[in-house]
Amino acid sequence: MKHPDGYFAGNAVPGGSSPAHAATPPAQARFSAAVASGEPLHALVEPGQPVVTSPAPVTPVSSAVASVEPTKKPESSSNFDDSTPLARELSEITRRRQALAVEKFPLPKSPRVFTVANQKGGVGKTTTTVNLAAALARSGARVLVIDLDPQGNASTALGVEHRSETPSVYDVIINDEPIADILQKSPEFDALYCLPATIHLAGAEIELVSLVAREQRLRTSLDKFLAETTEPFHYVFIDCPPSLGLLTINAFVAAREVLIPIQCEYYALEGLSQLLNNIKLIERHLNPVLQVSTILLTMYDSRTNLANQVADDVRNHFPKEVLKTLIPRSVRISEAPSYGQSVISYDPSSPGSLSYLEAAAEIARRGAPA
Ligand code: ADP
Ligand code: MG
Repeated sequence: MKHPDGYFAGNAVPGGSSPAHAATPPAQARFSAAVASGEPLHALVEPGQPVVTSPAPVTPVSSAVASVEPTKKPESSSNFDDSTPLARELSEITRRRQALAVEKFPLPKSPRVFTVANQKGGVGKTTTTVNLAAALARSGARVLVIDLDPQGNASTALGVEHRSETPSVYDVIINDEPIADILQKSPEFDALYCLPATIHLAGAEIELVSLVAREQRLRTSLDKFLAETTEPFHYVFIDCPPSLGLLTINAFVAAREVLIPIQCEYYALEGLSQLLNNIKLIERHLNPVLQVSTILLTMYDSRTNLANQVADDVRNHFPKEVLKTLIPRSVRISEAPSYGQSVISYDPSSPGSLSYLEAAAEIARRGAPA
């Protein structure tokens, strides 16, 4: 990757490796070469230097925790010897699992429609949409995910068909097809459905420009569907593309609540005021009931000061909207979509899954905004 200053990242000297590097191979390389050539290892040890050894494979704590068979876990956290960090983490996970197991999520009386938005890409919109939807569906709610991003990542993660010839949200918005004819059941959970996105949606931004009531098209279809469906839905989540174009405006007009995922990283708050201004404009001109009800901090790494600082900043700015639950940075969360799964079904007792379940419980307990 080219650095802004013209150098290559990770290489201090432009156009080549550092001479010091070339003269002295790293210890690990000398170790590997010695093993390959059968050279005795003590030959590598210089006087006063520590012995060069093969690095032990490091297992991330979250994977270690996740790989423990749930049946082998003691049911009571009091059985744990809490003297090591891993034991403490296991004990904490058991406590959280037990608390979630007994918690009944209250169901809303009428459908709650969320737009999951942030014009930044890669902040966790799709991951949050899919996992909150799965968490709520697992807890007994009927949930619809509308994939409004032409990349179709939410459709992939929910394991639904979205090849180019598949009927999709494009047909709903552009061709007025009823949602009931297009939605698919996700194999993830019984009560989880998805209105998939295909590549055709990429052209919808331009096609929408010349259509009548171009900002209201999703809302008209969704309102009709929710009113007519025989089995009522409790939650709808609309996953937005990372832009503020007509597709995102359609999502804002169709929803009542906005959920903003914020990544606990530098620049996290940049662009947020623009997003909030746009939401205000929509509220003033197109959807008077729209409000930012929920902010979720994602990809949180408690070991970094920066993540804690960002989390504190966001909480100070939005004390009512930010959920108490933080979503940790977790390998399990990021690998679940490649299996066409949410983390809730992929690794139910992993810290990432528990966090999304806890965030879903908070959303359910808070209820719809007044
Ligand atoms: P967006 O929809 O805002 O573009 P995504 O949900 O697609 O963002 O997330 C961007 C990337 O970050 C994806 O590769 C996803 O797997 C990864 N990711 C999201 N949340 C987490 C997390 N909590 N821990 C680790 N990786 C994450
Ligand atoms: Mg996305």
